[in-house]
Amino acid sequence: MTHQEKEPSKAVCILGSTGTIGVNTLDVISRHKDAFHVFALTAHQNVEKLAEQCLIFNPAVVVMVDHNAAEKLQQQLGKHGCSTEVLSGEQALEDVACHDEVDYVMAAIVGAAGLLPNLAAARAGKRVMLANKESLVMSGKIFMDAIRDNGAELLPIDSEHNAIFQSMPSDLSDIRAKGVTKVLLTASGGPFRTRDINTLVEVTPEQAVAHPNWVMGQKISVDSATMMNKGLEVIEACWLFDIDEEMIQVVIHPQSTIHSMVSYNDGSVLAQLGNPDMRTPIAYALGYPKRIDSGVTQLDLFDVAQLDFEAPDFERYRCLQLAYDAHRIGGYATIALNAANELAVDAFLHKRIKFTDIPLIIENALEGAPTGTPVTINDILEQDLTSRISAKSYISGL
Ligand code: NAD
Ligand code: MG
Repeated sequence: MTHQEKEPSKAVCILGSTGTIGVNTLDVISRHKDAFHVFALTAHQNVEKLAEQCLIFNPAVVVMVDHNAAEKLQQQLGKHGCSTEVLSGEQALEDVACHDEVDYVMAAIVGAAGLLPNLAAARAGKRVMLANKESLVMSGKIFMDAIRDNGAELLPIDSEHNAIFQSMPSDLSDIRAKGVTKVLLTASGGPFRTRDINTLVEVTPEQAVAHPNWVMGQKISVDSATMMNKGLEVIEACWLFDIDEEMIQVVIHPQSTIHSMVSYNDGSVLAQLGNPDMRTPIAYALGYPKRIDSGVTQLDLFDVAQLDFEAPDFERYRCLQLAYDAHRIGGYATIALNAANELAVDAFLHKRIKFTDIPLIIENALEGAPTGTPVTINDILEQDLTSRISAKSYISGL
């Protein structure tokens, strides 16, 4: 191709387009209308937002998982003469993720619901832009094998993992031999970093979702407050970069300016910095290996003025310890960890349990997890269901 010829526009499927990652992805795409077009969008049940996105981006197909919501969407689109095909149900998520016409899949569904569509995208050899860390925590080996065996490309969207990816050697095979000694995974510490630990029991959902630096969905915001988010990210990093948890050091960095770092054997530490805005990692993954405009304002170091670092307090952040424990046990434990956490966070958001009950529910799930390693995706789904049932009954007894 000569330098005058344009690359063909990439067809993008956004799984979870109505969430914060989905909306930010559409924002970046709208800045590069020649380079990308939206082939498919998906959502759980938000009719208004998906309808609005259809009218602006005119996708060929959308999936609304909830059947009633899909009917309402169809009616709304009909009124506007919009020709987008509306599908519903979970199977349709997989169908669009592996559709022949799709080049790139943004995996931005929250929680375990993302597992099967993400896997379908990996098996179809797509560029998978992975925001949904829960699916990797559940299915690590199976998912990474699917990426490798099908020639798929995996680009991390989680800001820390995207920063690590940018700071790693370009060839990720055997990074220890290339001098990597440690991954420094930064964490803001969430809204309760300095709060009296004895008052955590009184924390309300409204306080927990008010993250100091990032605007995110409710579940990941609560995960940031408990630091389960960082625990899930430790596990995510182990799978993405083929390292064990001993190579990862969690560093609390309240300004969220350094998004993570990689240490090398010669004493160098490479970092990626920027304003806390998810459009940076999203643009990186869409444009890779090129850099493209994201709409994010340039970092002003004089504005930031100061960068602080602290060690995490494992008593304050018990969920972080539990995630390390689960990963060390391996196998079914991380599936139980994720399932119990999803139920606990949901129960907390609905004011059925206290903030401090969250780690108790997860601890109980880890105790109940069988030993051994899942071999098939069905093994994973069965354990996910079993852990959800037992977490539910534990919650009702609290
Ligand atoms: P969100 O709650 O804002 O959006 C979630 C999306 O998933 C919505 O589009 C929703 O319709 C869809 N969804 C929810 N339940 C579903 C189901 N059962 N079936 C199908 N679709 C469903 O969440 P978010 O903040 O955008 O986060 C999405 C994912 O990205 C999470 O895994 C999160 O951990 C990860 N992530 C988010 C951020 C961030 O800044 N928001 C940063 C890093 C990683
Ligand atoms: Mg993150």
